[in-house]
Amino acid sequence: MNTPEPSPSLARAIRREARRLGFSAAGFSAPPPGGRATERFRAMLREERHGEMAYLETGLEARERPELLLPELKTVVSLAMSYHQDPPGWNRRISRYALTADYHAVLRRKAEELLEAIGELAGSRPNACITVDSAPVLEKEWGERSALGRTGKNTLLIVPSAGSYVFLAELLLDMEIPEERPPLPNPCGSCRICLDACPTGALLEPGKLDARRCISYLTGELKREFTTEEASMIGGRLFGCDACQERCPHNQRPLIKADPAFEPREELLGLEPERILGMGRSEFRRLFAGTPILRIGLRRLRRNARAVLANEGKPID
Ligand code: SF4
Ligand code: SF4
Repeated sequence: MNTPEPSPSLARAIRREARRLGFSAAGFSAPPPGGRATERFRAMLREERHGEMAYLETGLEARERPELLLPELKTVVSLAMSYHQDPPGWNRRISRYALTADYHAVLRRKAEELLEAIGELAGSRPNACITVDSAPVLEKEWGERSALGRTGKNTLLIVPSAGSYVFLAELLLDMEIPEERPPLPNPCGSCRICLDACPTGALLEPGKLDARRCISYLTGELKREFTTEEASMIGGRLFGCDACQERCPHNQRPLIKADPAFEPREELLGLEPERILGMGRSEFRRLFAGTPILRIGLRRLRRNARAVLANEGKPID
């Protein structure tokens, strides 16, 4: 596309616009993504640490060659939006990110608004591909390359001033947006709080996760019934798990807090497994409308609730 000569001030103007839209941070990088990230991804598949998430086995080529998603790809804009909140009365049975509106729709809408703004700032709208978990991209790698954040030992991207309770999105553009930023320092040093806090040993070593032991995967991704071991691993959690983020120093009093779009739903804060086993489909749809939990359906949520009750030695009616 024909655009005026890009300059670093364009990156600054786009970042300002991203903040105005509610993004906690934005970064710019150019392809290729680098072989180290794809090799780590291949190792995860080889060792079957992705469990039964077969969708991760597809799109390997696009992960290595993102230009397959957008011909003439010149810039990846990495975006992060905080959902960090500590609502009073929250019993921690549902993960933070699932107490609120489904982030896919929120981030996509804001990314579309940002794309419009980029078009105005640059003089013409670039061709673009917006991804919010919707295309095979190595988003943490892009986030690191653009100095948006650095991956911690808990395998999550840690964004300065915002921490790790962030949703990520990317804008792939056929337009150059030059910006030189030095890589961020290692956020962990000798800390290993997250490894020690994981209740199931899913963090095999710093930066290496076995999804098959991860409560987030078991309660939110696994489609079949639990084995006895899997059921016991979820402990008291109905959906998701924040244990490897709760005490991370980067998540204590971050300067940037949740976007107002992620206001927690009052009714979900104290939800107990007994209520889930007692509810019908229409109540399930009403209670979880617009949240990530709707996606797993009542059958799987009941499976999780039965396991929680068994783990706590309570009767299952
Ligand atoms: S989400 Fe929970 S189970 Fe998964 S790695 Fe983190 S602490 Fe462990
Ligand atoms: S808890 Fe410590 S080791 Fe884990 S991600 Fe945070 S800073 Fe890094």
